[in-house]
Amino acid sequence: MNIATNLRSTAEYQAMDAAHHWHPFTDTAALNAKGARVFTGAEGVWLTDSDGNRILDGMAGLWCVNIGYGRHEVAEAVARQMRDLPYYNTFFQCTHPPAAEFAEALTAAAPDHLNRVFFTNSGSESNDTVFRLARVYWECMDKPTKKTFISRKNAYHGSTICGASLGGMAAPHRQGGLPMQGIHHIGQPYWFGEGRDMDAEEFGRMRARELEVAIDWLGEDNVAAFIAEPVQGAGGVIIPPESYFPEIARICAERNILLVADEVICGFGRTGNWWGSETFGIEPDLMPIAKGLTSGYVPMGGVFISDRVAGPLMDKAGEIYHGYTYSGHPAACAAGLASLRIMQEEQLVERVRDRAGPYLQQRWASLADHPLVGEARMVGLMGGLEIVRDKKTMERFDGEAEAGRRCRDTAVAQHGLVMRAVGDTMVISPPLVISEEECDELVGRARKSLDGLADELTRDGVALD
Ligand SMILES: *Cc1c(COP(=O)(O)O)cnc(C)c1O
Repeated sequence: MNIATNLRSTAEYQAMDAAHHWHPFTDTAALNAKGARVFTGAEGVWLTDSDGNRILDGMAGLWCVNIGYGRHEVAEAVARQMRDLPYYNTFFQCTHPPAAEFAEALTAAAPDHLNRVFFTNSGSESNDTVFRLARVYWECMDKPTKKTFISRKNAYHGSTICGASLGGMAAPHRQGGLPMQGIHHIGQPYWFGEGRDMDAEEFGRMRARELEVAIDWLGEDNVAAFIAEPVQGAGGVIIPPESYFPEIARICAERNILLVADEVICGFGRTGNWWGSETFGIEPDLMPIAKGLTSGYVPMGGVFISDRVAGPLMDKAGEIYHGYTYSGHPAACAAGLASLRIMQEEQLVERVRDRAGPYLQQRWASLADHPLVGEARMVGLMGGLEIVRDKKTMERFDGEAEAGRRCRDTAVAQHGLVMRAVGDTMVISPPLVISEEECDELVGRARKSLDGLADELTRDGVALD
């Protein structure tokens, strides 16, 4: 049997999809009225849609396809594994070669104090695991009242009940009675959005000290951990001022609370080092990962467990009643191993740090001269760009202008570029294999999209400055 991926017309796929496929993070009625974009293939940083358009994927899928598309080594490693052993559990004192090898290879690439990894199937699950392990750790330390997690407004930690509660976005919390109990949110280090009347470093310290205030208010004996993305991704590529994380690390150490770095996006080279924690100089006690872990070829997540946390868990907890049927799935481990080998052999992290990162950063920053751009920032290969109505005052458009949404739609439909819009912040996070020529294409297309946005806003009578 030969199952081709696009035997039917775009309209047929859209109709099947509209009738039966319920999409994540989607206004279903609005999507169905319009029809989903159908992707059928990809190579390197380029996607192909069902109408034959080639589109530059400025988002590496959803922040995950770090090694780029079309890497047959991964497909072959997965196929081989599926023929040898498609599945076996890792619950009942069992393992298999890909799980053992992947655990060893990953912890070798991780910071020195992280020598164990627990496997999950997604970033959300990883954060659920973190939430449970941190609490069990404090039970082992005879401090069972240390249960509360402190997180940040506008953080993203996934979409399970726990993940969405740890996250600090207002919209998901408005639906279905979230957040769950035991989670407290403090302010985010978003200088452009919330701190421009202050010096950036001063603002960073101020936002970090909200952690201290929150611990005092909750009581140190009630706080288990602080969780943060090194760079907030889904929140709009919010790069903290340099002063922020050293202050956070000081407070966590002084107050004896665990530090969790959610590296689901920042891990695996995204910020120009293997780990965002290295870029920002922190040593997390627990480190959830996913996305770049397998470059998205097969779903997988994990949690690195530090020696500090693993020791008491091993000595005192006995069995920890937690795990997923597919923890350490052989095919996922095979995909992850193959992806990791590509990253190592092609020195992709060094490439981002020394060449692709600096190059795209400088090109991206050049967009700051556009009349609609208030700031263009980037670390490693993740960038944010603030659309403003007035460049002098940095005043934004009101929400009804939908500047970000329009820019995103224009970019993909008119200029063949996938960017994402977070309100009026445009974000990019291309595959780490992007060439200099493709960086030029990306930025050229982004500029045309901004020009298109200006035309569209003028045409629709939205006042520009
Ligand atoms: C994407 C993401 C998650 C959730 O990962 P899923 O695989 O979608 O469950 C968690 N944390 C961060 C920082 C993310 O970007």
